[in-house]
Amino acid sequence: MTPSKKAAYAVLGQAVRRAIMGNEGIELASTLTCPFCGSRTQEQMLEDRCVIVYSCPHCGRIMRPRKGDCCVFCSYGTVRCPPEQFRLNG
Ligand SMILES: [Zn+2]
Repeated sequence: MTPSKKAAYAVLGQAVRRAIMGNEGIELASTLTCPFCGSRTQEQMLEDRCVIVYSCPHCGRIMRPRKGDCCVFCSYGTVRCPPEQFRLNG
C-alpha cells in the first residue's frame, strides 16, 4: 500500500470510529454466506480495513469480492463493510 493510500485509510478509519462511537448506525458484525458451500459464518469487521481475501472456515475455499465491490462483506455479507456504510450514510 502506498503511504498516501495508507494515510487516506487512517483518516477514513478515524471518521468511521467516530461514527460508531456516535452511534450513527454503523454495524460491525456481518454474516458471510459462502458462494461455494452456502455456509454462513459471522465475522467481526474492522473499521478501516477491507477484507479482500477470506477463506471459508467450512470448505476452505477462498472468497474474493465480486466485481465492483470493495470487499467480501460487500459481496457476501448481510452487512456491507463499515467504510461503505459510512459512505452510504453520507
Ligand atoms: Zn464454503
